[in-house]
Amino acid sequence: MARRKSDREANETTEPDAGERRGRAADSVERVYAIIKDLAIEYQFRPGQKINEAELAAQLSVSRTPVRAALNRLERDGFVLTVPNKGFYARDISPDSVRELYELRAAVERAAFVLACQRASDGDLETTIAAWERHNDLAEEGSWANIALADEAFHMALTRLSKNTQMELALESISLRIRFFRRIALETLPQRSKSYQEHADIIEALRRRDAVGGARLIEQHITLSSAHAVEVATRGLARIFFGTAA
Ligand SMILES: [Zn+2]
Repeated sequence: MARRKSDREANETTEPDAGERRGRAADSVERVYAIIKDLAIEYQFRPGQKINEAELAAQLSVSRTPVRAALNRLERDGFVLTVPNKGFYARDISPDSVRELYELRAAVERAAFVLACQRASDGDLETTIAAWERHNDLAEEGSWANIALADEAFHMALTRLSKNTQMELALESISLRIRFFRRIALETLPQRSKSYQEHADIIEALRRRDAVGGARLIEQHITLSSAHAVEVATRGLARIFFGTAA
């Protein structure tokens, strides 16, 4: 927190060296990131609302530099959107469009799995299994942002086994749009970590080249995530529009 020093105090204090200043700047980006992330998770910004950087900087008693650095990170993590030359905006997504995106995701992943059973070589399978094992390591570290990205990577790797580039591109685009919900779902519902077992079962079905069984597992896995994502969207939006506590 910025504290204004008296002239005498400032004169007596030696100036921090560059390394120390950089360290403090990093701390403040970290802190600002955590605060703005919580605001976004709690839907404190109206969907589609422009995020006022100057106002946030004033509220948090920091300059605009750490606010912008934090917003850039939040954009990368899928919490806010950026419009070139205009700035940062709160995500604007209705519960219905969340449900539709998850339905589309399930359709693409199921179809890709069926093709993967026919087309993936044993070597390809090993690559996908490696992606899943990375997911397990991260679960132990407990970093939700990284777990969410690893989950996304696992599903991308699985879809890539279909050897259908268009399916891969479609899932990539869907993944970016649901990244926010994937992340929130993991953070607010840690018991979803049983999805690691679901991933293991999907891999086993792939090893058996069981297209029907595997597609069913994928459908169930995505439907569970979807239900929670829709709930998050509904609750968050309800709070904004009706002032209801979740
Ligand atoms: Zn998953």
